[in-house]
Amino acid sequence: MNSFRDSGLNDQILDAVSELGFETPTPIQAKTIPHLLSSDQDLIAFAQTGTGKTAAFGLPAIQLTDVENKNPQTLILCPTRELCMQITKDLTNYSKNIKGISIVPVYGGARIDTQIRALNREAQIVVATPGRAKDLIIRKKLLLENVKRVVLDEADEMLTMGFKDDLDAILAETHHKKQTMLFSATMSREIMAITKKYMDHPIEISATPMNTGAENVKHLYYMVHASDRYEVLKRLADMNPNIYGIVFCRTRRETKEIANKLIQDGYNADAIHGELTQAQRDDVMGRFRSHQLQLLVATDVAARGLDVTDLTHIINYDLPDDIEVYIHRSGRTGRAGKSGISIAIIHMRETGKLKDIERKFKITFSKELVPSGRDICQKQLYSLIDKIEKVQVDDYQIEPFLPAIYEKLDWLSREDLIKHFVSAEFNRFLAYYKGAKDINVAERSRSEGRGQREKRTREERRRTPFIKLFINVGSKNNLNPARLMGLINEGLNSRETTIGKIEILKQFSFFEVEDTMELPLIDALKGQYFDGVPLLVQVSQEKPAFDPFSSERTQSRDYKKPKKDTRRSGGDKHKSGGGGRSRRRP
Ligand code: AMP
Repeated sequence: MNSFRDSGLNDQILDAVSELGFETPTPIQAKTIPHLLSSDQDLIAFAQTGTGKTAAFGLPAIQLTDVENKNPQTLILCPTRELCMQITKDLTNYSKNIKGISIVPVYGGARIDTQIRALNREAQIVVATPGRAKDLIIRKKLLLENVKRVVLDEADEMLTMGFKDDLDAILAETHHKKQTMLFSATMSREIMAITKKYMDHPIEISATPMNTGAENVKHLYYMVHASDRYEVLKRLADMNPNIYGIVFCRTRRETKEIANKLIQDGYNADAIHGELTQAQRDDVMGRFRSHQLQLLVATDVAARGLDVTDLTHIINYDLPDDIEVYIHRSGRTGRAGKSGISIAIIHMRETGKLKDIERKFKITFSKELVPSGRDICQKQLYSLIDKIEKVQVDDYQIEPFLPAIYEKLDWLSREDLIKHFVSAEFNRFLAYYKGAKDINVAERSRSEGRGQREKRTREERRRTPFIKLFINVGSKNNLNPARLMGLINEGLNSRETTIGKIEILKQFSFFEVEDTMELPLIDALKGQYFDGVPLLVQVSQEKPAFDPFSSERTQSRDYKKPKKDTRRSGGDKHKSGGGGRSRRRP
């Protein structure tokens, strides 16, 4: 299948896809779409993000939806709230020409009653995180009898996040005749076990990413204070006089602000964002494509569909909230066999995100120092000299003017003449960068040795103030450390929170989280169910006198009202669950 027209997709979908600027199917779409449209055989796809996998499973699911039937027909399970919302948004775009289709996202950490109302209205395609899906199934609000297709998107990530038991429970509720599709970037033993247990003679498909840029793209980062980001951008533009790139910002406002500043400062730049009319957008795109503009400042959404193959740089003025977006951005350079540079301008607290990107996409960022005023002046100077050397001289045109010019400059020596010419062009840079300060922020973790780094990490952990929380489920409810972490992951929807000691007891459990997360977590888990039990999380007392939810006595009957445990804890041992370290959630 070389074009979407040959894929068997209907015109409504083809029109929507074409409006999104998808011209040819990606390899995984070419293999998957015809199969899913014509067969209900299960499917395993080795596919990372950036391969176009959402459309690969989403387009057939949309086409196969019976719009007259208002019950869930496709269930898409994915690991995070962001991905859940992204898939919903993509599917909504793909199905914009289809009347009566309803795509509903349900995820943890948000009000369940609103989601129940959405499900009650109608929901033919449900996109869900596993914990919330299970909760809704237990409440009999998510009904799976009519589900004909189940997609496990980023299955490896769901397992890493501790959702294995939830997936087991959800899949057990689905009809045995459904079609199961599993998408995973890696194939571990655990993934193979899932495919064996829940899939029937699946067809296997693998796809290389459209462009993760692994080979052709260099990933660099500059660490500065947030307030110096614009200065870095300017210095990068000055350091690379032939730059041709996109500067990604998070918001429309920032996009406009940065582009305006660049224009005022004399750069060939403009902005593209959602507020432009189609004509304005075409104008900016046209000037960018023809290289009249060197820098296009854009939001992710506005830059979609911009197909330029010879970008030299991608600059992340802000790192995106969703780390997958980074790879979409950087994949815009290094195309068609050319090399490219993807730059992240970050501040100290963003190193964690950088590491997440490195881990997830198996890439390495190199730290670069923001060029000094002197470096930039030197670069500009040589670029100017280069230009002077290579400039085409039109003898015929300038001949009549030369005698007067020679006469006027006669008093200057050769050396002085060169100095005057260079300065005429160059004084602007010299003046701007005279006394320019060093804006690099010293970073410890990447430059220091491993031993030092480990020592500092231990030290940081020791300093992390933990709070001990009580949760009213334990081993009796099949809780284990991985499931507890899954529950916390989904509730807080952040992987940054440090978890300390976990103690799983029979009727209930204790665990430590960094103390700033106490209230958000208690709030997030309120109203949620685990194993059919309504969850109660509260601050624990040091040693619970007895289990308030059990008639069994443990030590004493004096159950005191829990009070906040503000001890600073090393939090570096799990009583159960193994692993001797305090850890970040996977
Ligand atoms: P995904 O792997 O589903 O996260 O998709 C990665 C990115 O590629 C998304 O921004 C999609 O909108 C885009 N995309 C998906 N299919 C195509 C296609 N056939 N042509 C161009 N872009 C696509």
